Amino acid sequence: MVARISVGILGATGEVGQKFVANLQNHPWFQISALFASERSAGKSYAEALGFGTEESRWFLKAAPERRILDLEVRDVNEARGDEVDLFFSALPSETALGVEGKIAREKPVVSTASAYRYFDDSFTYLPGVNEKHVKIIEIQQRRRGWKGFVVPQPNCTTIGLALSLKPIYDRFGLERVTMASMQAVSGAGYAAVSSWASQRRAQGSNLPEPSPEYVPGTFEGNVIPYIKGEEEKVKRETVKLLGDFIEGRIVPASFKIACKCNRVPVLDGHTESVFIETRDKCTVEELKEAWRNYRGEPQRLGLPTAPRQPIVVTEAVDRPQPRFDCLVEGGMVAVIGGVEPNVFENGFQYTVLSHNTELGAAKGAVLAAEYLYSIGLVK
Ligand code: NAP
Repeated sequence: MVARISVGILGATGEVGQKFVANLQNHPWFQISALFASERSAGKSYAEALGFGTEESRWFLKAAPERRILDLEVRDVNEARGDEVDLFFSALPSETALGVEGKIAREKPVVSTASAYRYFDDSFTYLPGVNEKHVKIIEIQQRRRGWKGFVVPQPNCTTIGLALSLKPIYDRFGLERVTMASMQAVSGAGYAAVSSWASQRRAQGSNLPEPSPEYVPGTFEGNVIPYIKGEEEKVKRETVKLLGDFIEGRIVPASFKIACKCNRVPVLDGHTESVFIETRDKCTVEELKEAWRNYRGEPQRLGLPTAPRQPIVVTEAVDRPQPRFDCLVEGGMVAVIGGVEPNVFENGFQYTVLSHNTELGAAKGAVLAAEYLYSIGLVK
């Protein structure tokens, strides 16, 4: 068996951090060696920090972590040193991530779900299967900042399904205009939001604690919240950047126009988006579907362990995709597209796309990103 490289998880006790644990504990290339969280959790075992096995347990996944992980001591993120593991995964709040990830990157690579490093000119914000041609930015980041490591942030979870669905269309037919309206899951708002769904989830056999005081119980149920702070700006900016060219050391964003409106809806996992596009070249619904079905990216070409067989799945059922039934297709690592039809605009089409916000959109997507960086020799 090949020796695995050691990894640390920053923000290991949060919603995304727990998914990192779940996705990494049996990974063929990476071995969890260190866990970090806030000073509230520091000094406790992972089990104690989460209240694992008690009425107040914060572990929200069905399958328990391995005993070895439960016994690991959680340390304060401010104590994390770049020389102690080979690679860090970060699920920290962005305000904390800026300082902590930057400090660690002086020595070692960090793959992050936080947005802190997404918008610098020297950032490789990486969506596996979409923008590998931007990877050389890492060298620019290292040169400019004097780092031996780097920070690779994941794109915003709402951008991911949209950008993945647009990629084959943009490559093959070009795009003039994109409009998107999202219906985003509660889990995208972090652990505190999910815990406000506790009673409902407990009825489904989960062991979540009482609702967090940060979210009024019932806020999400039977409701739509038509505002998610900063989300629309992130989607617009990141989508054209992910599909942009890499010319003379910088990303030139794709030139199509994009508008969007984001909504939080009472769904546990999975962001659903209604998308309206106008292509540059004439094409048919069948040609769009063929472009999606035939699309393969670098993760498929390289056969990475966490890569789905194909990044985009098209469904013919008129009432799909639905988050309840489809967000775990291919382990939550694909964009599921349905309802594809022409509309009244010239070269106009509309469709629904669904992607998993805490799998492809966060921890598992970050693991796939790290696998790519490892496979091309950037993580050693
Ligand atoms: P979360 O559930 O609130 O977890 C936050 C984690 O960070 C916990 O481990 C917490 O430790 C730690 N932490 C909080 N404040 C800290 C501080 N001041 N110093 C050190 N550690 C601190 O959040 P999440 O939903 O997992 O999100 C994590 C990151 O991923 C965020 O940047 C978020 O925007 C991003 N993201 C989330 C999603 C999603 O769907 N949820 C998707 C994509 C990206 P304690 O337990 O000790 O407090």
